[in-house]
Amino acid sequence: MSERIKKDFIDDAKIWDLIEKGHNPDPREIREIIAKSKAKNRLEPEETAKLLNVSDPDLLEEMYEAAAKIKQDVYGNRIVFFAPLYAGNKCVNNCKYCGFRRDNKEIVRQTLTKEELIGEVEAMERAGHKRTILVFGEHPDYNADYISDVLRTVYETKTGRGEIRRANINYAPMEVEDYKKLHDVGIGTYQIFQETYHHETYANLHPKGDLKSDYQYRLYGLDRALQAGIDDVGIGVLFGLYDWRFEVMGLLYHTIHFEETFGGIGPHTISFPRLEPALNTPFTHNSDHFVSDADFKKLIAIIRLSVPYTGMILTARERPEIRDEIIPIGISQIDAGSRIGIGGYKEAEKGYIPEKEQFQLGDMRSLDEVIRKVCDFGYVTSFCTAGYRAGRTGDHFMSLAKPGHVHRFCMPNAMLTFKEYLLDYASDATREAGEKVLSKELNGYKAKYPDKGLLLEQKLQLIEDGQRDVYM
Ligand code: SAM
Ligand code: SF4
Repeated sequence: MSERIKKDFIDDAKIWDLIEKGHNPDPREIREIIAKSKAKNRLEPEETAKLLNVSDPDLLEEMYEAAAKIKQDVYGNRIVFFAPLYAGNKCVNNCKYCGFRRDNKEIVRQTLTKEELIGEVEAMERAGHKRTILVFGEHPDYNADYISDVLRTVYETKTGRGEIRRANINYAPMEVEDYKKLHDVGIGTYQIFQETYHHETYANLHPKGDLKSDYQYRLYGLDRALQAGIDDVGIGVLFGLYDWRFEVMGLLYHTIHFEETFGGIGPHTISFPRLEPALNTPFTHNSDHFVSDADFKKLIAIIRLSVPYTGMILTARERPEIRDEIIPIGISQIDAGSRIGIGGYKEAEKGYIPEKEQFQLGDMRSLDEVIRKVCDFGYVTSFCTAGYRAGRTGDHFMSLAKPGHVHRFCMPNAMLTFKEYLLDYASDATREAGEKVLSKELNGYKAKYPDKGLLLEQKLQLIEDGQRDVYM
């Protein structure tokens, strides 16, 4: 490690030591760890390190089953849908893995004007989206005032029965005062991916002198967001930059750091993008640490087992067959019908898919197609944001999520938003599949919670009768 690396809660040597010590784990011990996860307890680093060393196919299968069970217990038959909105790709950094990096002259630099932004939001709404995440390159033009204006415009833009009810942000770390501005205009989750928790790899991939080269400023970036009152924060790793086992440990240590610093609040979501090819970006073809599909599945199950209460996001970077396989083992949120070119949603309506993007998406299916597919798994599609509006964020969310009560509150609201989608936007085939899922889920809910079930049935009828944004 070089001189300029200061101390923080990621101890590289200790992480490797734990991974080494976890070699050849005793199956009995692994089963005890799995039982601890199933009881919705967050694991300790020593325990996660042992799971990382499991290679026995039967034990792995038990881990997948447990991960699926935890997902079911905490989130129920429900999956939240969103779509990213790329608002500007100017960037002052030179991250070696990213198509938006400063020196990439093959990318057209663009920032949506207000009119273009409105056009994009309307196109998303016409497809049925209700939740988005705004994404930007890092640039002085994209300061907190500018981003607040973008947020305001997104919330104000409504077309037909469409509206965006929650806008999250994936952007560079900011100062407390800046986060406060975003909080005031109703930001959802603030996401910052550490990219890699390994200090030396971080230094190699983020050239010295770049704003992003300050590992600690980024590592503590979400602490400042929480201090500013933003309740929900999302962490993530770009898998493929360094050894995936180390990165899983990094995510766990980051979670523990939040819990210890903020009275038990862990990250609201964990993301695990895999490195994708990007135009004129050789590193994306040459990394020494690409994660295979098999390891990807394993790492997702281990994250699910390690932090049972946290939302997990699987993006459209992944191919449809991977998404279909992995969603059941722990995913609570996915994006679909996504376009990541600047202005990509309006272009997509014309049937044009831009090539010069940050990276290439693996899943180009429409929102309607993906929703139909998850109906096959028996899942209710949720566009729900009632939880946030009813104050179920931060520590309140955690007090529900940790013992596994989220789905009792969220399932009825998910069903209400799904009903809206089926009536307003779905194709005939998706409507038919969706109504079947809804009716099965409603019957189950009524049997379990008779009083609330009746209320839910009445609210679903209100939607049939033309009311919108109905929630419990
Ligand atoms: N510019 C801000 C930053 O870097 O924090 C936020 C937006 S950046 C466009 C969003 C995320 O894209 C990054 O955090 C990184 O994890 C991911 N990303 C960058 N290059 C990628 C690639 N080639 N494949 C997949 N994901 C990539
Ligand atoms: Fe810029 Fe973010 Fe891409 Fe780095 S990852 S080059 S900061 S857009």
